[in-house]
Amino acid sequence: MSEKYDVIVIGSGPAGYVAAIRAAQLGLKTACIEKWKNDKGAGVNGGTCLNVGCIPSKALLDSSYKYHEAKEDLAVHGISSTGVEIDIPAMLDRKNKIINQLTGGIAGLFKANGVTALYGTGKLLAGKKVELTDNDGVVSVLDTENVILASGSLPIAIPVAAVDNDLILDSTGALEIGEVPKRLGVIGAGVIGLELGSVWNRLGSDVVLLEAMEDFLAIMDKGIAKESKKIFTKQGLDIRLGARVTGTEIKGKEVEVTFVVADGSEHKETFDKLIVCVGRRAFTDGLLAEDSGVQLDERGTVFVNEQCATNVAGVFAIGDLVRGPMLAHKGSEEGVMVAERIAGHKAQMNYDIVPNVIYTHPEVASVGLTEEQVKAAGDAYNVGTFPFAASGRAMAANETGGMVKIIAHADTDRILGCHIVGPSAADLVQQVAIAMEFGSSAEDLGMIVFGHPTLSETVHEAALAVNGNAIHIANRKRR
Ligand code: FAD
Ligand code: AMP
Repeated sequence: MSEKYDVIVIGSGPAGYVAAIRAAQLGLKTACIEKWKNDKGAGVNGGTCLNVGCIPSKALLDSSYKYHEAKEDLAVHGISSTGVEIDIPAMLDRKNKIINQLTGGIAGLFKANGVTALYGTGKLLAGKKVELTDNDGVVSVLDTENVILASGSLPIAIPVAAVDNDLILDSTGALEIGEVPKRLGVIGAGVIGLELGSVWNRLGSDVVLLEAMEDFLAIMDKGIAKESKKIFTKQGLDIRLGARVTGTEIKGKEVEVTFVVADGSEHKETFDKLIVCVGRRAFTDGLLAEDSGVQLDERGTVFVNEQCATNVAGVFAIGDLVRGPMLAHKGSEEGVMVAERIAGHKAQMNYDIVPNVIYTHPEVASVGLTEEQVKAAGDAYNVGTFPFAASGRAMAANETGGMVKIIAHADTDRILGCHIVGPSAADLVQQVAIAMEFGSSAEDLGMIVFGHPTLSETVHEAALAVNGNAIHIANRKRR
């Protein structure tokens, strides 16, 4: 048995690598085990987020948006653009370079912070021992005071649309499509389906999204979801709600998809490619020895308390592996919290203020409670909205679709939530997240001086509108 670690992290996605770095920064002897290999068979860090998730999808979203903008959106500025073409292999190559740079960066950060990077598969044994099977198949057992499980998640597979990595792809395969499909089907109009559908829609595919739920973006604020659907539909995304996929059949070079709609009738559509984006599941395969003692909950995620402690003392779990939204930043903050608690600090994480973004164009972003959640809780509240159409900065940028919505408690005026569809929504919602962390009221936010002309002014005006004091729109009568 080798020397004892203070902390072993299993998994180096945004939850695991952040936990490992923070633990090492706090003076804990830390190792991080990662089983991901690149196409050359070398171990790489960064997990789903850096390799096949947040970063590659944003790289393709940005490339495809620039193409779309150059082709379609410049004329309004008096710029003519002819002969604009997309080179898909070059676009994919740029994406891959970004992945390599960032994953290599994690290895550098590990080195700089003194984290021991181990490549192979980790398994938690009884008594907080960790079995490491390295990439050459050599097995060793490591001893540690604490274990942080951060093995992440995988795309959910559905038998009615089995991924063949040719015509039927999951989100990983969808990042590697080598030419623009003429007709692209997407099962699931959730966050990932909308982002990937947008990429290929901008590049010229006819995109149909088949979504089983009747409500669009059911967990989002209804008003913002409704506005978003209008915008996406105008962009050419064909979003079919209440369309449950029940089967697929490969017919030559095409895939025929069967789906059932609300009235029970069956329909068929044929596509050149089909992307399955029906959600993700916690990845626990091979992670826990039978006698590790760690409990899973009924959804197969590792059961943890608010501080990410499992039922086994000294064993923690973070990120997509545990309850809560499957978001990179949620896992990273859990990683920091757990590392700090192991080091003896009283760290906590505020799960009520975790921003959530869909990186379409415009972006859809939210933080805190939706109007529906506030209503259901029986609290009296006020809402302030401000449309981007009334923002001088948005007009200058020709980005006038969407709005900012802020919800505040009627008695205390404390901000309860903010929901935005519009340009730079991700960055704008973060401003409100900061205000909420400081317990801001809508009036507080309204009293802050915002630079002019900025998109941020829309947040200022929505905050003012909560109490009927917006300047650049007619205020709604207060309830
Ligand atoms: P992961 O990133 O899944 O990392 C887990 C790591 O553990 C992997 O590297 C895996 O190889 C390793 N591992 C598993 N088992 C073992 C084992 N036994 N031994 C050793 N290593 C192991 N989130 C956002 O916040 N913003 C976005 O814009 C966003 N976009 C996304 C786009 C796509 C297409 C996808 C698929 C996801 C996106 N997400 C986004 C979600 C985000 O990627 C995840 O929430 C995040 O990666 C979860 O981090 P994690 O560290 O918990 O797990
Ligand atoms: P998300 O959880 O945001 O990734 O979204 C996944 C979406 O896929 C959800 O909105 C589900 O309702 C949807 N979905 C799951 N199974 C099916 C199916 N068989 N047909 C159509 N949509 C589905």
